[in-house]
Amino acid sequence: MEKLWRKNFINIEPYTAGEQPKSDDIIKLNANENPYPPAPAVLEAIAATKADGMRMYPSMDAMPLKQEMAAHLPSLYGVKLAPENIFIGNGSDDVLATAFRAFFNSDKPILFPDVTYSFYPVWCELLKIPFETPAVDGDFGIDPADYAKPNGGVVIPNPNAPTSIGRGLDFVRELLEKNRDCVVIIDEAYIDFGGESALKLLGEYENLLVTQTYSKSRSMAGMRIGMAYGSEELIQMMYAVKDSYNSYPLDNVAIAAGIASLRDEDYFRSSVEKVKTTRDRIAGEMRALGFDVAESSTNFLFAEHRTLTAQEIFAHLRERGIYIRYWNKPKIGNRLRITIGTDEQMDKMMAAIKELM
Ligand code: PMP
Repeated sequence: MEKLWRKNFINIEPYTAGEQPKSDDIIKLNANENPYPPAPAVLEAIAATKADGMRMYPSMDAMPLKQEMAAHLPSLYGVKLAPENIFIGNGSDDVLATAFRAFFNSDKPILFPDVTYSFYPVWCELLKIPFETPAVDGDFGIDPADYAKPNGGVVIPNPNAPTSIGRGLDFVRELLEKNRDCVVIIDEAYIDFGGESALKLLGEYENLLVTQTYSKSRSMAGMRIGMAYGSEELIQMMYAVKDSYNSYPLDNVAIAAGIASLRDEDYFRSSVEKVKTTRDRIAGEMRALGFDVAESSTNFLFAEHRTLTAQEIFAHLRERGIYIRYWNKPKIGNRLRITIGTDEQMDKMMAAIKELM
């Protein structure tokens, strides 16, 4: 019998993340996680959480973490911001979803590239936001001119994912100049691996929101810490949305862990450098084997082989316990996205690719 209550269900296809294997033997290069541990002080801060940290509710807006962030922004990104310019949530996915809800309420479509983070269309479906996806060019380049049409908002990752390609501040500035009347979100999930942060432009553009995460460069994907930086007005609006459905997103352990990570800037920089050095070495080795590898400003590579198909490389590596990412989608159907692991992991991957050849 037809169950009438089902007709009110939402009709949505959720975002699919990289597979999470059960076995520890797997070399996991499919979710852009960092292969190195977080700073030692992070684990110490987690262990030091006292009973009160569990018994009591955390700060509603993770204020101690925002204060610590504000103190480190000058040395990390060369900008000075107040805690009032910072919003914190459970990873940048939570932060982005909150921003979509807060800012994308126009009848006009929001704009994002056709090849980009695949969560954007999912939030649009969920929140009933109309959207259009200007096409990237043959080299996966984004043309700011495509974002000059009437729209209800713009969201672009810089560097872009899954293409790994980063653009300079001139590009972001051009986007902002063409979009004075809507909120422009620059998703900087990968900014620490290359490129200049758009945080520098916040003073000039009140409609700019920059999002970042501790999941990649700070090795804390499991802790779920993400943030947005913007004018006080934008940040207040995001808190109004957050406080309308989830008042206490970050727990006390995450707040303590985030503060500890910020305090060890040397560790942060050396861990990011290690990933970048491995990335550049592997990109070179892959090119020598006949891969076209996009110039990466991230902790992953976006590559296509001259003769072997992405599907066969993906399947071959998977059989050997090496997980990378491949999408059977237009434009990127023959491309692989490979997260940078440790040197040892990457050497094993290269050996497996050579074996296939
Ligand atoms: N933006 C982009 C472009 C990403 O690739 C990711 C990672 N999947 C995120 C945002 C979200 O990361 P997190 O929620 O772990 O901060």
